[in-house]
Amino acid sequence: MTYDIVIVGAGGGGMYAALEAIRRNPALKIAVISKVYPTRSHTSAAQGGVNAALANKHKDDTIDLHIFDTIKGSDYLGDQDSITYLCEQAPILIRELENLGAPFSRLEDGSIAQRPFGGASRHRCCYCADKTGHTVLQTLFEQCMRYGIQFFNEYYLLSIEENDGKCQGVIALNLRDSKIHKFEANSVILATGGYAKMYWHKSSNAAGLTGDGGAAALRAGIPLKDMEFVQFHPTGLRKSGLLVTEGARGEGGYLINNKGERFMSKYAPEKMELGPRDLVSRSIEIEIREGLGFESTAGQFIKLDLTHLGAELIMQRLPQIRELCIYFEGVDPILEPIPVRPTAHYSMGGIDVNTSCETNIEGIYAVGEGACVSVHGANRLGGNSLLDILVFGKRAGMEVVERASKSGQPKISDSQVEDQQKYIDGLFGKTHHERYDVIREELGTTLGENAGIYRTKDALTKGVADVYELRERFKKVKVADHSRLFNTNLMQVMELGSMLDLALCVAKGALAREESRGSHSRIDFPTRDDKNWHKHSIFKMTAEGDIAVSDKPVTMGKHELQERTY
Ligand SMILES: Cc1cc2nc3c(=O)[nH]c(=O)nc-3n(C[C@H](O)[C@H](O)[C@H](O)COP(=O)(O)OP(=O)(O)OC[C@H]3O[C@@H](n4cnc5c(N)ncnc54)[C@H](O)[C@@H]3O)c2cc1C
Repeated sequence: MTYDIVIVGAGGGGMYAALEAIRRNPALKIAVISKVYPTRSHTSAAQGGVNAALANKHKDDTIDLHIFDTIKGSDYLGDQDSITYLCEQAPILIRELENLGAPFSRLEDGSIAQRPFGGASRHRCCYCADKTGHTVLQTLFEQCMRYGIQFFNEYYLLSIEENDGKCQGVIALNLRDSKIHKFEANSVILATGGYAKMYWHKSSNAAGLTGDGGAAALRAGIPLKDMEFVQFHPTGLRKSGLLVTEGARGEGGYLINNKGERFMSKYAPEKMELGPRDLVSRSIEIEIREGLGFESTAGQFIKLDLTHLGAELIMQRLPQIRELCIYFEGVDPILEPIPVRPTAHYSMGGIDVNTSCETNIEGIYAVGEGACVSVHGANRLGGNSLLDILVFGKRAGMEVVERASKSGQPKISDSQVEDQQKYIDGLFGKTHHERYDVIREELGTTLGENAGIYRTKDALTKGVADVYELRERFKKVKVADHSRLFNTNLMQVMELGSMLDLALCVAKGALAREESRGSHSRIDFPTRDDKNWHKHSIFKMTAEGDIAVSDKPVTMGKHELQERTY
């Protein structure tokens, strides 16, 4: 199968790229490969909203303020050229999405409604009740169908193929019959989403967010960036880790400890519950450690109180949150406070790309949560990720069209396909005995304990050693289901392999970085160290399959380094 452009991933990032490319050149042959049905991509789970300085609610909001809030939120690790592009494009993209049919919630005057969100100095977050991602994804899918984009649903990316530093396409497995297919193309966009599911039970992520794109990139010689920065969202449901959107606090919900105190007054007296996520998560963790949390068999937690907002507002603006609380906690937020705790939520790091979404291999691009452009630096602001996938999805779509018309014939050889077949056959090895679910559980536990919200040298050293040991055991992991029809066990084993590679980057990067910045909090190095650590971390896979860590400078602009207070 030969295409002009192959896009791996059918979330918001991948679909916007496809849409932009086909609108620019309807003659292009574009394939979108996705391991899940497109509308089941994690983008559909996004609740709270998407930022743009439209100045509908606060008339004095500006693009410059959005830029500054994002740089400050990133703890000055974000690249200022990318952040400027992100914020400048935001109002254009929201209006475009509205024209494509996304049903945004409205203010009295009919303009798009905007709610307050963490770390933002103005009410800037545009939303569709608490189902923003769902509506964004459905809108984009409709448009892709309209333009005849070809989808390969339930195909799993196995490898990215290049020759002489030039993209040749990808190899993928059809999950329905376990047959291998090559997709030859001069341009490939990786839009495979995040990887915070490696924290397993303590994660808000969909089961498929296992970082396959990043792992395939490492194997193809493409570096990853800033992997130690994992965002813990303050309010995951106590038992499942499922998300309660920041929008709940944006609408006026507040956090209380076991004394009934609004404890955020101690940590962020001005912003209170709407401080940035890294700060609010750390505050919750401190309250729990100081014995001010609530006890339960599912672990300690604090409470998010919405009862004072009233039934009407909750039903109108947070209906999905109410459903999730009733189904997964047996608590109706109209009547009683919600039990919550921090949950691994977002991956700031990812495939290293520049503002044009290019990797180090000609013709291979990356966008979305699986990429690191870097607009979020050490800590992402709520509402900036949907924006990231829209803005840079579109940008990648623009960039590939330029390229697709100029390049020659791509070629994936038979031996490249055979290598992948051997890899799959090897996974069915007869002497294999390790259980994938046990390794997966142990991975989540060691990351949660040793590379969580607060980190130390000792804990991270243990975390790195544990991941090395699990990677060794993974070599003998058993695919228990030998059927070739819809073998989900085979897919889960491959996903575990991706998570282990990326987990090694997270743990090694966190051990190396001897400072505290954004989401990365070292108890043994409690302050930000701009002299030694104001730089991006870069991760490469060695020929032996190990991970080597190096660094690269941050792109600065008109905003100098400052202390970050809220
Ligand atoms: C619960 C939740 C709520 C959120 N709320 C907000 C919010 O309110 N505002 C905000 O800005 N951000 C929010 N975020 C973050 C935001 O939704 C995501 O960062 C963003 O949607 C990611 O989009 P994406 O296109 O990069 O990837 P995804 O939407 O995750 O899609 C990834 C795609 O890659 C495909 N894929 C992955 N691996 C493979 C493989 N091996 N082979 C083939 N295909 C593959 C998948 O099938 C899928 O189609 C939220 C995230 C979560 C988890």
